[in-house]
Amino acid sequence: MSKSIPSSDDSMTPTLTHKQTQRAFCSGCAMLSTHCLCDSISALPSRTQLLVLQHPQEAKHHKNTVKLLTLNIPNTQIIVGEQFDPNDFVQLQGLSRANTFLLYPSDQSIELESVAALQEQQAYKVAEPLTLIVIDSSWKKSKKMYLINQWLHSFQSFHLKLDQSPSIYQIRKKREAHFRSTLEASVIALNILEDYPIEPCYQLLDRFCELKIQDINQFKNK
Ligand SMILES: [Zn+2]
Repeated sequence: MSKSIPSSDDSMTPTLTHKQTQRAFCSGCAMLSTHCLCDSISALPSRTQLLVLQHPQEAKHHKNTVKLLTLNIPNTQIIVGEQFDPNDFVQLQGLSRANTFLLYPSDQSIELESVAALQEQQAYKVAEPLTLIVIDSSWKKSKKMYLINQWLHSFQSFHLKLDQSPSIYQIRKKREAHFRSTLEASVIALNILEDYPIEPCYQLLDRFCELKIQDINQFKNK
């Protein structure tokens, strides 16, 4: 199953549609009208294309951050599944080894922050835009997805430098407080690759977390 994400160019004016009885959704961000995020979306395209391989459980999770990523970075593509045959997905066909990288801490991965490592990658010297593949799943399931999708191993993988500062995404159980959400990891990577601004994405994530916390508090007070 492939899921292409519409670019968020002309649809940012929030209007309300009723997808369900009594529940109005914003046509700009597709969030509940009471949770509209349009004011926090910058929709600044990156030069690098983000290709998210999303586990089906994440696609259904109401606290998943990839939706925010697609709202803020229009050239993000999502493919939902666990095992992918590249021949079945137009987004996976024709990916070149020179211009495609994987953000995943494998045995062979190189720290992305390392300038020396970047200089060794010829692709950073060519004019063609890069594709960065990101796995969106729990830690354990990401590992499985990496193992069963052998075709991923042909791409150079990168990991981010271990940062002990707490993630701003604290609304979901994680093994460690500093573990980053998919949105945070992707934006940090884009920032390293092409100076993509981190702050607008973090502000959007902050607003999203604020609304989720409000929901939890309202539920508790009922
Ligand atoms: Zn909205």
